[in-house]
Amino acid sequence: MAKAVSAPASQPDAATRPPARFATRGHDAAASRVAQLLTGVPPHALLIVGPRGAGAGTLARDVVATLLCMSPQSGGACGECRACRLVAAESHADLARISPSGAADEIGITPIRELEASLALLPVEGGRRVALIERADRMSEPAQNALLKTLEEPPAQTHIILAAAEDSSLLPTIRSRCAVIRLGLPDSAAASELIATRLGLDAATATRLLRMSGGRPGPLIDAGASGDAARAHAALRRQILDFVGVAPHARLRQLPALIADASAILSVAMADGEEGGVEEGGEPEGADAAPESAATSTKKSPAKRAGGKPTPAERRANAKALLHLWRGVARDLALVASSAPASVAFPEDLHELTPVAARCAQTTWRDALISLDRALAALRRNGNPELLLDAIALRWPRG
Ligand SMILES: [Zn+2]
Repeated sequence: MAKAVSAPASQPDAATRPPARFATRGHDAAASRVAQLLTGVPPHALLIVGPRGAGAGTLARDVVATLLCMSPQSGGACGECRACRLVAAESHADLARISPSGAADEIGITPIRELEASLALLPVEGGRRVALIERADRMSEPAQNALLKTLEEPPAQTHIILAAAEDSSLLPTIRSRCAVIRLGLPDSAAASELIATRLGLDAATATRLLRMSGGRPGPLIDAGASGDAARAHAALRRQILDFVGVAPHARLRQLPALIADASAILSVAMADGEEGGVEEGGEPEGADAAPESAATSTKKSPAKRAGGKPTPAERRANAKALLHLWRGVARDLALVASSAPASVAFPEDLHELTPVAARCAQTTWRDALISLDRALAALRRNGNPELLLDAIALRWPRG
């Protein structure tokens, strides 16, 4: 059984050159490590762990394509053989794809039992049987126990590839039976380029969107993010900066418009309505970096209802997006005020941040940041979104 291995730290030499035919971008060292694992005798079970939306799913699909390709090369699947065409058309008979579904957004025991049965059959195409379990951290415990049986006695010529955002929710016995590859965030230049190409955006817009999503291309690609989201984000930040020169009661009048505008950045900044928003250093819950990602269909995106009043969930989601964005502004102002402008999340906004930061004492911005953290914590504890935002608007420094 394969032992756990980790991708080596990125060293830009010939040995870590990424496989040319992989779709994975920005994970050169890990991708080349995976390519090495696939030559010779590939592991029966491979677990790829990385932050949601950062590319673990894409790398897992590269592995699947390479395993099923009839003439794989060192750079990955050939892309031209019958197997590659079937994989691309999502109709390869020897590939089973499992992803979370249903209201619980979970992988239950039934698909895992079906998988066990199908892996026991001989390959239809004569090569290997491959199972891809996407967002495997959403497997229920009974499902994991069922999978364990297959991992303990894998039929010959079968491979199980798991992609997960975190492995702490997987049974230790599952982890120990997999070769493990760990990913961090993708290289930002490569990820920006990927976004610019996939979404047809200029480099500056792609870079801003990537910063908005906490460095994860997945939510952006899933949402088909456009320049509108980047412009709405910049405008919202500008308005919050302008608030420093606005009397507190006058801010309250502008707040509803700000909350409404925050919905424009939702799909990008908070790809999943509930758990944590994607913002500077936040805890994002995007889907994975592929348009066909199964996560797209199950995503609890708080979509706007046509015409009607926003639902309580939408109000909370909008308020959360705005509070996260506001926190990002406060953080950047605190950094500029403490002479650390190089660390701001949006360096392209420095010309707007610098004069505003100078209008108040450094401690003022730090206190504002603390207030915003408290408001976000209160929102998580079901605090009233509008009241929390009112309090933040009233307390925001005036210079
Ligand atoms: Zn091929």
